[in-house]
Amino acid sequence: MMIFVLGILSLFWLFEIAFISNFYESTKIQEVEDVSEELTKVINDNYLDNYVSSLSRQKDVCIRVITNSKDSFANAYGYCKLNDLSYNDVFYYTVKAKENGGTYLFNNNEKMLYLEPENGNIFLIDNKDVKDITYVKIVENEGLIIVNTLLTPLSTTIKTLETQLFIVAGIVILATVVLVLILNKRIVNPIEKINNSAKSLSQGKYLNNSNFDYQEANELNETLSNAANEITKADQAKRDLIANVSHDLRTPLTMISGYGQLMIDFPEEISDKNIQVIIDEADRLNCLVNDLLDFAKLEDEKVLLNKEVFNLSMLVKQIIQEYTMVKRDFNIVGNIEPNLFVYADKKRIQQVIHNFIANAINYGNNKDIEIACLKKDNDVMVTVIDKGEGIKAEDIPNIWDRYYKVDKTHQRFHVGSGIGLAIAKEILVKHQAVFGVESVVNEGSKFYFKLPIQQKDQ
Ligand code: ADP
Repeated sequence: MMIFVLGILSLFWLFEIAFISNFYESTKIQEVEDVSEELTKVINDNYLDNYVSSLSRQKDVCIRVITNSKDSFANAYGYCKLNDLSYNDVFYYTVKAKENGGTYLFNNNEKMLYLEPENGNIFLIDNKDVKDITYVKIVENEGLIIVNTLLTPLSTTIKTLETQLFIVAGIVILATVVLVLILNKRIVNPIEKINNSAKSLSQGKYLNNSNFDYQEANELNETLSNAANEITKADQAKRDLIANVSHDLRTPLTMISGYGQLMIDFPEEISDKNIQVIIDEADRLNCLVNDLLDFAKLEDEKVLLNKEVFNLSMLVKQIIQEYTMVKRDFNIVGNIEPNLFVYADKKRIQQVIHNFIANAINYGNNKDIEIACLKKDNDVMVTVIDKGEGIKAEDIPNIWDRYYKVDKTHQRFHVGSGIGLAIAKEILVKHQAVFGVESVVNEGSKFYFKLPIQQKDQ
């Protein structure tokens, strides 16, 4: 910050002070050249005197034009050395100009008389800063034009600028110091604290800092604190998953190997019933592994949906029929408005409905399940309602998280991977569908999603 300000100030100095004299000098040189150019055109004119004095006033220069018949002089400022040129001076000027092809520019730096414009005092200036230029031009066969101008007032201007710059620099540096101190207190210190706390973030730890006066720092602090919570949650979920999956894998594997061994040891135990146990357990394993693979696939952003227009009413009806066949002890009621079409990935939507129904069966203790597919404004709304154990309000936001299980004790009959709803969520989010759950503990749950209705021919 400080370096930046000093950089700007030096740039300022460079342009304001260092370059200004060069710039001013070249402008003045141009000016004396222009004046002599003008005079060249009128050197023969009867009114040469008038031209000389008016140009002298206009351009603030001192002019002397020496022709065969005239010697015109005019001065716009206090004292001008062209006033009392000696014969030698004129000769010297002429020689120099001739040598140089007709013109010559003298850069003088010498003692001179100076008239103070305010009070008319004349004094001798003995100062290196006193500078003037004299431009000499020979007009062939006509005479000599000499133009002189002072560069001296510039040094006064530069001094004023320098003083101003010092004052401005002082103020700017002071303001910068104050600003740096304020920023340090309000931004750098909080960021340092947050940074220190964030170092342990990878372990899911984050020491929540006290309130800062700077709002963005508070927000950053809050974000990191949330991130730490998420990391802890994800970490916990990972541990839960390992616990769940290893438990859920071990149970069917133990059953499969146990029943297999039993039938080898006791051939009389080879029965359809025992073989069915092995098949069922293998199916459960299959489901679990499929769920895990599915979820991993769905989490991949690049996986695209295979969308088509299809009859959702028909799909829901078919799913209900399948479940009614298999779960004969359940009372599955359908409330379906026919021919409601949607534009979606049929297989994925089928998967969502399966997940909702499977959960209703697993957690719906009283075996009454209602499945609806109805038109709601411009949407088709699919609802799966059970009269089961319900979900506590504090668990509701988490059930859509991967590997989240309300009941972590594995006591219940159902073996689930804990990612059924996370899969449903991924699918519905990818469809930009509205979805959710309403649930009351011990009364039951209602899971739903909505998709925009489509005309059949679209
Ligand atoms: P799981 O394989 O454990 O069923 P899900 O992702 O399908 O995994 O569900 C996550 C958790 O949400 C379940 O463990 C359960 O606690 C809760 N849950 C889901 N559906 C219902 C429901 N219909 N009634 C009560 N709780 C439910």
